[in-house]
This record gives sequence, C-alpha cells and structure tokens, in this order.
Amino acid sequence: VVLVGADPASEVYVKSKGKMTKEVGMKSVEHRLADTTSEAELLALIDTLNNDNSIHGILVQLPLPDHLNEDLVISAIDPAKDVDGFHISNVGLLGTGQKSMVPCTPLGCLMMLRDHHGTLSGMDAVVIGRSNIVGKPLANLLMNRRPWSNATVTVCHTRTKNLSEITSQADILVAAMGQPLGITADMVKEGAVVVDVGINRVVDTDRKQGYRLVGDVDFEAVSEKVEAITPVPGGVGPMTIAMLLVNALTAARLTMENEE
Ligand code: NAD
Repeated sequence: VVLVGADPASEVYVKSKGKMTKEVGMKSVEHRLADTTSEAELLALIDTLNNDNSIHGILVQLPLPDHLNEDLVISAIDPAKDVDGFHISNVGLLGTGQKSMVPCTPLGCLMMLRDHHGTLSGMDAVVIGRSNIVGKPLANLLMNRRPWSNATVTVCHTRTKNLSEITSQADILVAAMGQPLGITADMVKEGAVVVDVGINRVVDTDRKQGYRLVGDVDFEAVSEKVEAITPVPGGVGPMTIAMLLVNALTAARLTMENEE
C-alpha cells in the first residue's frame, strides 16, 4: 500500500486494509510518503514494487495530492499487480467482458447481489453514479454476459432527468452518488434489492468525533419496503476490503502460475 500525504479518510482506509490483510495471513507493507513527494519519486517506488517478486499486489491510495497525476501514476503499476483494477488495461478488459482485475467496490456489490439472487439475468438494475471507480465498472459487471450477470442496466448521474421515475422501476438499485440520504422511500420499488455504496459524514454533535457516517439511502424508510438493503456503515465498505484481499490472492496465484 502506498499512501502519499495524510488525508484523514485515506489514513482510516489504509489502516483497516492493512489490519484485514494481516488477519488473513498476507504480508502487508505500507509505504507512507510525504505530501511533497515528487512524481518521479513516486514512479520510482512503483517501479521497485513492480520488480519485487515478493510483492503480488500494489495499491496506491487515492486521492493523490493535486501535484501528482493520478492517471499517470496508476498506469505505471504492473497491470498484473493492480489489485484496485484501475489500470487502463484492466478497465479495457472489464469493458470488453474479458478476465481482469476488477475494482473492489463494484466487485463487492456484485458478490452480494449474486449471493442474494443467484443470477441477475433479465433484471432491471439502476446504478446511480458514473465514476470510474464505482458506477462505470459496476454497470459493466452487471451487464456482462456471465451466468450470474446479464442484467439490463441503466446508469444515472447528475444530468439524468426524472431520476425517481427511473429508480422506481429498478429490481436492483445501487446508489453511488455521495449524497447523504439522497434516495428516499418514494424513489424505490416495493420488493427491490438496494445496495448503498455511499459513505457520507454528517454533523452529529452527540458523537465524540462530531459526525456520523450515513449512506446515500434513507435506510430506515427504504428498508420498510424493500426485500434487502445494505447498511452504512457495515455493508459495501467491509465487502470492498474483502474484495481487495480476493484480488491480492488472484494476483499472487497468477504470478505463481506464470513462474511454474
Ligand atoms: P464521485 O463523486 O466520483 O461520483 C458520484 C457520481 O454520482 C457522479 O457520477 C454524479 O454524476 C452522481 N451523482 C451525484 N449526485 C447525484 C444526484 N443527485 N443524482 C444523480 N446522480 C448524482 O463518487 P464515487 O467515488 O463514485 O463515490 C460515490 C460514493 O460512494 C461516495 O459517497 C463515496 O464515499 C462512496 N464510496 C464508498 C466505497 C466503499 O467502500 N463503500 C468506495 C468508493 C466510494
């Protein structure tokens, strides 16, 4: 794990990723770099990790400080070690339905939906959010021609007209918009399955830290009318880390197979 700077949310993610990695018996090495680190220094570290046979997975924690070009940095990672699935080769493979490293959050969403439904074939899935790390890869995963996927997918974003008309048709609704409680009960179909990806801090003076975490969905009201819904915290977040471990294991297996 490479962490540049001291973004507080990134610190939390890196800490829990490191903890869970060790818990399952994997070696986890953290490289903490100052926020003044130059692009050349960061690229040199990635090059070293790419060439280190004892390292099977590399994760550069995003966001990077403004002076570093994220696209350039991600493209420097060996795609076979790209456990975040953000390298353009992996993005292209996923987009064309080929085997690839798959971004952890969308993969976690798919796993939960697959566990629940078995197959999503023919279902209407609506994804709210079109980011490269959640919305777009998830749309690909849900629609790809795989026995467990094959959903009909609609992707919504800030310019979508009649959002609630679209969401209320969804058998599967995934909210990845970063809007606290943006999805209310009237926007959701009776009996739908809802996956809440959002992690938002809202002020809460009753809490020691002064805030609490909420998702994008009004959990209490929506949970009354749906078949299943993921909580925040405790739903997609832990699944994301679990999928990171799965990707690390996949990367290690691939390397070992290539070495045989
Ligand atoms: P982002 O800001 O890059 O993208 C948000 C997307 O939502 C955009 O495409 C935007 O068009 C859309 N959107 C925003 N407001 C909208 C609205 N009112 N109506 C329709 N569309 C709207 O965010 P991201 O990186 O994709 O993350 C989304 C949320 O998921 C954030 O809350 C983030 O913290 C959370 N997240 C959680 C995990 C996890 O492990 N659980 C991982 C990644 C992101």
